[in-house]
Amino acid sequence: MSRRAARARAVELLTLVGIPSAALRVDNYPHQLSGGMRQRVMIAMAVACGPKVLVADEPTTALDVTVQAGILQVLRDLRDRLGTSVLIITHDLGVIADIADRVVVMYAGRVVERAPVDDLFANPRHRYTAGLLSASPQPGRHAGTDRLTEIPGLVPVLSRQPDACTFADRCPAADGQCHDAAPPLVNIGVGEHLAACWHPCSVAPQEANR
Ligand code: SF4
Repeated sequence: MSRRAARARAVELLTLVGIPSAALRVDNYPHQLSGGMRQRVMIAMAVACGPKVLVADEPTTALDVTVQAGILQVLRDLRDRLGTSVLIITHDLGVIADIADRVVVMYAGRVVERAPVDDLFANPRHRYTAGLLSASPQPGRHAGTDRLTEIPGLVPVLSRQPDACTFADRCPAADGQCHDAAPPLVNIGVGEHLAACWHPCSVAPQEANR
């Protein structure tokens, strides 16, 4: 496109991702923009060619909570207005709870659990997912203690036990089967809830009665 058309398109995209006074801001250098604005510009660049899927790798890292909420809203708006699927890669359970529809939990390079977001938070079936949720602060959950539950140990050297469950060295429920064979990812609950675990966590009572 011509320079004039490219500039108009840039202003349009900056407006789309919520940059105020985009017609003026389009001439700014990066150092003249805040961290949140720079992140919005990156998102504008990513959607410039109308992708069907947007991969956002840690899109809110190093942003404060208010700016983070704004960026997640931009991603939500793009999904709804442009019909773009958004794949978010994050270690932040709060971000997942806020924006995700479906969640894939990975550990040591393998998918260990996959479920709709509400089901995953209410009924984690893989022991690693359960450990992650126990390690997250939640209102009222750790009353009387300042310490969160932690997952002991370290991520394994992947070449050492290629046929075992990768979480076996850190899992409180591990047994010989877990050290001898990698569990397959199978449907394990109501709907589309998959987990790769020989001894999955039990379902919360209210879910079991559903
Ligand atoms: S397969 Fe075994 S070691 Fe792996 S998460 Fe399940 S119970 Fe724990």
